[in-house]
Amino acid sequence: MFRIRRVFDDFPPGDQRAIVQVQEILRSQFTALAEKDIAKLPEQLRNPFKYRFRSILLVTEDSRGHVKGFALMSHEPNLHFCFLDFLSTEKGKMGQGTGGILYERLREEATSLKTIGIFYECHPDDPNVVRDPDLLRRNAARLRFYERYGARPIMGTAYETPIKPADPYAPYLVYDDLRQHIRLRRSTARAIVQAILEGKYGKSCPPGYIEMVVESFKDDPVRLRKPRYFKKRAEIPISTSIPVDKRIALVVNDQHAIHHVRERGYVESPVRIATILGRLDRTDLFEKLPPKHFPETRIKEVHATEYVEYFKRVCTNLKPGESIYPYVFPIRNVARPPKELAVRAGYYCVDTFTPLNRNAYLAAKRAVDCALTAAQAVLEGKRLAYALVRPPGHHAESRSFGGFCYFNSAAVAAQYLSAHGRVAMLDLDYHHGNGQQDIFYERSDVLTISIHGHPHFAYPYFSGFEDEDGAKGGEGHNINIPLPESVDGIRYREVLEHVLKRLVKFQPRFLVVPLGLDTAKGDPTGTWSLVSKDFEANGRAVGSLRLPTLVVQEGGYSNRVIGTNASSFLTGLWQGAHSS
Ligand SMILES: [Zn+2]
Repeated sequence: MFRIRRVFDDFPPGDQRAIVQVQEILRSQFTALAEKDIAKLPEQLRNPFKYRFRSILLVTEDSRGHVKGFALMSHEPNLHFCFLDFLSTEKGKMGQGTGGILYERLREEATSLKTIGIFYECHPDDPNVVRDPDLLRRNAARLRFYERYGARPIMGTAYETPIKPADPYAPYLVYDDLRQHIRLRRSTARAIVQAILEGKYGKSCPPGYIEMVVESFKDDPVRLRKPRYFKKRAEIPISTSIPVDKRIALVVNDQHAIHHVRERGYVESPVRIATILGRLDRTDLFEKLPPKHFPETRIKEVHATEYVEYFKRVCTNLKPGESIYPYVFPIRNVARPPKELAVRAGYYCVDTFTPLNRNAYLAAKRAVDCALTAAQAVLEGKRLAYALVRPPGHHAESRSFGGFCYFNSAAVAAQYLSAHGRVAMLDLDYHHGNGQQDIFYERSDVLTISIHGHPHFAYPYFSGFEDEDGAKGGEGHNINIPLPESVDGIRYREVLEHVLKRLVKFQPRFLVVPLGLDTAKGDPTGTWSLVSKDFEANGRAVGSLRLPTLVVQEGGYSNRVIGTNASSFLTGLWQGAHSS
């Protein structure tokens, strides 16, 4: 079993490990390469705009993360072409498994970048030039492999002139037009060849070499060699479905339905998940991952141990169907929690409508596991992940529950990611994300942002004011944007764009989005009027940050539209993250 995926940069540890292995393969298989060119690979990936070519790295790896093959391709955005620098497979077996998978994925990538095709160098399959029969056979196999895709050498030029006169021969320049039936114009070809030679050989060419090769392109359009290995062209098509590794990792809380509060008006109900999932299943944007089990210590990293223990104990002691609503709030003496468990509920709760029941702990713990599973996928190289969970979590503070929330799943995931770099949390729920504000209030490595209804009129009423901006070293690392009762999609987007600029300045390595859909028109707990296209535009704006991003489901209670709006946001997010 192996998987293929794109490695964007060396921030997530899974990508760091892959890059180190690719560098080792480059050193061992491509001995002519200079060490400085191998060493700059992470920098090339991290700062794509610094270089004329943007590097695209694809790897195939086994389930233990061992890199089995890779392809490194350069994208030139002005001339709209790609150049394949390296395609390396285990033992150099091109036609088998990984070579084909890598090359097909490269073609898909070059197509989605709207390029005119992929160029690359291949050693000649001409017996007059290559005397060694083994070498000749290998070269022929390689050209045959590419010919299946319609790619053939460009003929009638001086491209095959050795750079050093002592070299016996030089490679062909091969062109794959990605089945677009492009007639490559001479002027285009000349500009492309100049870019390739300058980029690939630069100063190692003798003076005048590049001009000589460029000038040698006389045919217009450029001539490709006639098919040599496959007389009838039956080219391998380019897949139109989204490759699995580019899909959003989707982790659904499979145990959410055990937490079902049946009291009238309790809008946080199991049907919410089914409604959203029903919509997501209509697309091929997602790769479902089963939730993994994580130790409770992960939760205790953001929640007070005594709260976690209390919550677990009180839930376990309740009879099925029995609920405790907090009714005494001993806020004046926090050092003396009431002895009786039922009475103590108010010691840990901020409101009177979030009950404790037998399954609340189990469902909330599972929601945390889902968020952590999705976060782990991000650490292993997934760019986008979505934890579709309930109960929600963003109102759960270090030592309190409320607002339908018990454990702050998004904050546990952010804490987990923060071991690998700075994390920004962008809360897009209609209600203030008081939970993560409280949890990270004194930290400067986790930026918490929340756009929400002003606490003058919106839950949780006691927090979410603009002047709450962090404390004790975390100053300036909590941003609250309270908005008026009436907000439409246009106004919301202005605010979002402004907030994203501040977020970028923080230079996070990971983004966690507690996503509420209660900003939608008609939501029973909100007053704003966002519609489907607004969610898509907001998703696109967030995706265009191109950060490894984890979305955790929070509120949203209009079952008529939550499915569509969740799907719209995530579609926009994907588009933003993958636009060229
Ligand atoms: Zn909400």
